Amino acid sequence: MEVQQVLHMIGGAGETSYANNSTVQERAISKVKTIVEKSIIDLYCTTFPKSLGIADMGCSSGPNTFLAISNIMEAVDQKRRHLGHSSPEFRVFLNDLPGNDFNNIFKSLAGFYEKLKQNNGPDFGPCFIAGVPGSFYGRLFPTESLDFVHSSYSLHWLSQVPPGLENRPGGVLNKGNIYMAMTSPPAVFKAYLEQFERDFSLFLRSRSEEMRSGGCMVLTLMGRRSLDPSSRECCYPFELLSQALMEMVSQGIIKEAEVDSFNLPYYTPSVQELITVIETDGSFHLDRHEVIELNWDPNDNDNNEDFAFNKLTRGRNVAKNTRAVTESMLANHFGELIVDDLFKKFGENVAEHLTKEKTKHVNLVISMTKK
Ligand code: SAH
Repeated sequence: MEVQQVLHMIGGAGETSYANNSTVQERAISKVKTIVEKSIIDLYCTTFPKSLGIADMGCSSGPNTFLAISNIMEAVDQKRRHLGHSSPEFRVFLNDLPGNDFNNIFKSLAGFYEKLKQNNGPDFGPCFIAGVPGSFYGRLFPTESLDFVHSSYSLHWLSQVPPGLENRPGGVLNKGNIYMAMTSPPAVFKAYLEQFERDFSLFLRSRSEEMRSGGCMVLTLMGRRSLDPSSRECCYPFELLSQALMEMVSQGIIKEAEVDSFNLPYYTPSVQELITVIETDGSFHLDRHEVIELNWDPNDNDNNEDFAFNKLTRGRNVAKNTRAVTESMLANHFGELIVDDLFKKFGENVAEHLTKEKTKHVNLVISMTKK
């Protein structure tokens, strides 16, 4: 699979679009808001720059695209008002892969500029927003042009399926699975970890060239608490998706070999794995790291212990979110015709699972300063 060509969240604003099915990711941005605010305010108060270069890596399209950058700009605006300073100029870069629905973002820009002025008054900015298509696993910006880099829910996507898993001459390595799973052999875990290490270190090296010294970066990505990469906390959602695919195999809708040869370009690291790459790279000082948890179904209220209630709705909510994120890759491999049926089955599997466990996604948040 050519990940950079294939991977994209479902565009537009339709029923299955990412814009309409990204509440989990929105909750993540909201939970990390205070960490982002602290980081950008510390940065602003250290240098009081006249012009701030801000990049959001893996911005997608929809409300979250604007939520993340408005949180960042509004934190600076409140601080500078409090200090009686005039507004800095904001240079905002929205990055994603070329298949992202940038048109949808661009069409919403006039309304967003208007809202910024309404919320922050006429002396806000100016603010210049640009789209930057390309992989964040490589250089995207001129040398030392960025002050603040943000990324939420994007860095768990790898640049490619780990080599050795796809088109392996000696046969299939990850039989019956589409991601790391309890039944995966050790070579699968090794291949995934090594791909993550290569990718994340290239991400850091690229940003370290693009950021000014003293610049800050806050990254949120899916991960795990456990040192065990097959831990249910990170692998189980895709085990349930594999099960739905295997049900379709048993019904003769798809072939087992198609499932065997499909692996997601995705990795959920532990905090230790992240820290090892950051230390090996050596260009950033790690200021803070935290774990935040989010319910699989974002509409499930944290305090509601009656989690078996309305299980089918819960299962459907989780399926809609997973579909908006993974449909491009599944349709590319298995064909578009299976997608509706697959996510119906997956939603039912999730519903069953949620009657037994209240399940949470584990997310890692790291805040760093460029040395
Ligand atoms: N930040 C948004 C979107 C998260 S979805 C939010 O919080 O809602 C993950 C996004 O990362 C997708 O839009 C996907 O296309 C993008 N992405 C994945 N790999 C990427 C890469 N190598 N370079 C740039 N963007 C990437």
